[in-house]
Amino acid sequence: MTLLDVQDLEVHFRAGGLPLPGHAPRLVRAVNGVSFTLAPGEALGLVGESGCGKSTLGRAILRLGEITGGSIRFGGADVASGGRDGRLRRETAMIFQDPYGALNPRMAVGEAIAEVLRVHRKVPRDRVPARVAELLTLVGLRPEHAARRPAELSGGQCQRVGIARALAVEPKLIIADECVAALDVSIQAQIINLLIELKARMNLALIFIAHDLAVVRRLCDRVAVMYLGRIVEEGAAETVFAAPKHPYTQALVRAIPEIDPDRMLPVDLLAGEPPSPLDLPAGCAFHPRCPFALAECRAGAAPALRPVDGRFTACHLYPAIPAH
Ligand code: SF4
Repeated sequence: MTLLDVQDLEVHFRAGGLPLPGHAPRLVRAVNGVSFTLAPGEALGLVGESGCGKSTLGRAILRLGEITGGSIRFGGADVASGGRDGRLRRETAMIFQDPYGALNPRMAVGEAIAEVLRVHRKVPRDRVPARVAELLTLVGLRPEHAARRPAELSGGQCQRVGIARALAVEPKLIIADECVAALDVSIQAQIINLLIELKARMNLALIFIAHDLAVVRRLCDRVAVMYLGRIVEEGAAETVFAAPKHPYTQALVRAIPEIDPDRMLPVDLLAGEPPSPLDLPAGCAFHPRCPFALAECRAGAAPALRPVDGRFTACHLYPAIPAH
C-alpha cells in the first residue's frame, strides 16, 4: 500500500536579480526529477549536503512551496495541482529545525497546541484543554507545561511542543526538517527515541530530512541520498549503510563515526564544494568530485536510478564494474 507517491518532481526557480538583456533568466534547479514512494508507517531519511534540495523537496511535497513539474499523490489523491488544502492540510504536518522560531513567543505553548486543535476541529471546544494535556504527556512533557511560554522552556522541550502541535493534526505523514540539528546530542537522542515510539504507536509515516547519517540510521527504514537535486541512491537503510554503491554515498557513509554514532559528520567530508545548482555539470553532476569518474560521466544526461544489489543507484559504474 502506498501513502505517498512522488514522480518526476521538479522545483526550479529564478535566481535573484534581473537577467541581462538578451539572456534567459537563470534557473536554480533545486529538485530535478525526484521519484519515490512511501508506505503508511514507514520512515524515509532524506540525506545529503546542505543545498542538495532536500528541504525544498520536503516543503514541495507538503505544498508549502511551489513545484515546477511532476506529480504528487497522497492517499491516492493528486495534490500537485492544488495548494496546501484538503487531505494534505488535514493529514500531514511539518516539524522545523528551530524549536523556538516555530512557536509564537508571546503565546503559552498549551494555547499554541489548542490553536491547532481548534483550527482542525479535532475535538469539541470543551475537550480542548484535556486533549492539550494528553498531547503534552504523549511527547514526554507535563500538563503544567501548557502555561509556559517558549522562552521558559529548553530547546528540547520546545521541540517536543513542536511535535505535539504536529500530532494534534492526527497526521498520517510528518516531514521533519533537521528537527534535532539544533539540539544537544543527549536531547537529540531523546527526541529520536520519541519519534521512533510515536511512529510505531500511531503508524506514522515520516520523512526525516537530515545531514546526520547516524541519526537516520537509527530512525529510518529507508534512505534516499540526494546530490544537487537528484536522488543518487535509495534503498533499505541497512542495505545502503552496510554497503553503499554510489561513490557519493560511500563518501558520506565512510564519515559516520564507528565509535560514537551520535557525533556529527565532519564538514570537510568530500573534496571540493558541490557545483552550483544554477550551472549543473553535464552528465553526472557528481563527476567533478568523483574519484571513479569515467569518460561517459562527463557528458550527456545524468545517469538514471537503476536497481543494483537490492537498492537503486544512479551511477555508470554499475553494472559495468563489479561492486567494491
Ligand atoms: Fe562517479 Fe560516474 Fe558514478 Fe557519477 S556516474 S558517481 S561520476 S562513476
